[in-house]
Amino acid sequence: MSKEIEQSIAAKDEEQRKLQLAIHKLQALEQQQKQYIGNISHEFKTPLTSIKAYVDLLNMYDDDPKLLLEAKASIAKETQRLYEMVEKVLQVSALEKYDFESQAELLEVAEGLRDVCARMSGKAERFGITISCDAEPAHIWIDKESFMHIFINLLDNAIKYNVPQGTIHVHSELRDNRVRITIRDSGIGIPEEARERIFEPFYTVNRDRSRQSGGTGLGLSLVRNLVEKQNGSITLLETEGEGSVFELSFPAT
Ligand code: ADP
Repeated sequence: MSKEIEQSIAAKDEEQRKLQLAIHKLQALEQQQKQYIGNISHEFKTPLTSIKAYVDLLNMYDDDPKLLLEAKASIAKETQRLYEMVEKVLQVSALEKYDFESQAELLEVAEGLRDVCARMSGKAERFGITISCDAEPAHIWIDKESFMHIFINLLDNAIKYNVPQGTIHVHSELRDNRVRITIRDSGIGIPEEARERIFEPFYTVNRDRSRQSGGTGLGLSLVRNLVEKQNGSITLLETEGEGSVFELSFPAT
């Protein structure tokens, strides 16, 4: 009898421990969500404040041609930034809510990568940047839309943070039953102190260099989320000299 009581006390303790753990997790999630909403509000306010300031100025001095030009350029830039932010925030929240909607299918990686590179080469050319791709034939199970989002975001960064006449090289190979994909660019690189933080939402190495290229600090956090949801991993490799290299790894099929 006393053994039964002991067992039931132990089971109750275990339940209590699990409940405590769940409460802690919920509290941490709530905290993260509050911080996320705070960050979003702040990030949205900045371009809106600038647009509002120009509209107020135009209301006061509507016959100033210099102001008109300046306002047009600034409003266009800030509107584009807002547009990109809304798009990324929607992608992030779609990812949170519709997990079950992700539809994994068999993808030939080399084909997928060549497709993304071709899609991004027009944008790269406009900046005088060349994209090359050498990919070994291999298959992974992945949601195709997520695959596209991941590599479009990474290539977009490799273009945004590159130098004129720069290069981007996409490589993939099959090793130890995993498909490893690297994206190497000849750009401005990522400083040592920022390496740990670049995957955090809203983190930008330098607000100015990100803003100039319409950055929001959401791209890499979205990428990491998507990669992990597809059972993959992403790391920023150490580089000697200039540029950045991101390595992604997915289980091969
Ligand atoms: P953003 O929208 O600002 O580009 P990301 O989350 O995509 O945000 O990236 C976070 C920060 O990491 C960026 O602000 C940028 O400074 C840095 N970064 C990302 N990719 C690269 C890259 N390929 N080369 C240099 N810096 C990069």
